[in-house]
Amino acid sequence: MNSVRVHSNFDGGNIRVIDASDDQRVRLQIERDAESDFFQWFYFRLNATEGRTVKLIIENAGQSAYPKGWDNYQPVISFDRKTWQRAAATYRDGALHIDIPLNLSTVWVAYFAPYSMQLHEDLIARSCAAPGVVHEVLGNTADGRAMDLLRIGDPGARYKIWAIGRQHPGETMAQWWMDGFIDRLLDRCDATSLALLENAVFYVVPNMNPDGSYRGHLRTNALGTNLNREWQFPSLERSPEVFLVREKMHATGVDCCIDVHGDEALPYNFIAGTHGIASWTDEREQLLEQFKTRLQQLNPDFQTTHGYPRAPANSANYGICSSYVAEQFGCLAVTLEMPFKDTIDRTDVRYGWSPERSGNLARSFVDALYSIHTALRPSA
Ligand SMILES: [Zn+2]
Repeated sequence: MNSVRVHSNFDGGNIRVIDASDDQRVRLQIERDAESDFFQWFYFRLNATEGRTVKLIIENAGQSAYPKGWDNYQPVISFDRKTWQRAAATYRDGALHIDIPLNLSTVWVAYFAPYSMQLHEDLIARSCAAPGVVHEVLGNTADGRAMDLLRIGDPGARYKIWAIGRQHPGETMAQWWMDGFIDRLLDRCDATSLALLENAVFYVVPNMNPDGSYRGHLRTNALGTNLNREWQFPSLERSPEVFLVREKMHATGVDCCIDVHGDEALPYNFIAGTHGIASWTDEREQLLEQFKTRLQQLNPDFQTTHGYPRAPANSANYGICSSYVAEQFGCLAVTLEMPFKDTIDRTDVRYGWSPERSGNLARSFVDALYSIHTALRPSA
């Protein structure tokens, strides 16, 4: 029997090895988030005999947070840690079976292309070096990591636009989106970004959950808290990340907020609005529809047909960022969901939904914001 070696004790890693003695039946389980029952994110390194096809079984896939996420799902693998392509997998009898042809002796395997805290540090450094950017540390997380905010543009600008990503740390496409969004805003040769920045200042939190990201969590921070249920009553004890960002939002004001996520099951990009808030009006609905329609025109990877069911009137959970912000600030606030799998309208067999497509979708958001920004606060 050929054995394999599996390791995940690194930035963002997550897997438990049950039995790695047979490369035709490597038994694995995903670890739960700390102090929580959520799990789905996995990321590990596998070392075995070059040239063989290794067969992995993630035995507890069926008990994960979103079992529907495994239907028609393929994990990503990389030999160079830069290009992440899909590997063949099937979900049956509650387990995810993955086949990995070993072109080289060592391969990295993940739920979606990882965005490590190391890359996060690089993103902060790159942003700081650009003109017009101020990096502010809002405070510390439970594990002692920095809550990073990037201010892009003039704080006296008329429109205050917030973008936050990765409240759920396993949704790494959210930070690939942030990466593209920030790069587009900082492009000094981009007339749309420059024109938008004449009227708007951006407050960007590229990673809302650095502890969960480093720990390899799906959904919670180091304390087991789901940050996107904390916005009404955040606390430094349970949810310092939300507490600190919300405090800053109240200091700056908010005219638009984009909260970026990934959805485990749905093979679409879509926006969830805030129809359930108490102050929802037809005018607000029109602005939301205008924004979504513009995005769809700009980028065929975005669509408006499929998504979450429309929330009934007065049903909002103000623990959710977009609902809290929309109600408190009377502004456009949206939750963007991207797929882990792929968009079924435009499939890419080799890469599926990817870092590049997430970044390109973010670039389209800059165009869409440019189109609608003067309607963000009609009374101003
Ligand atoms: Zn999410």
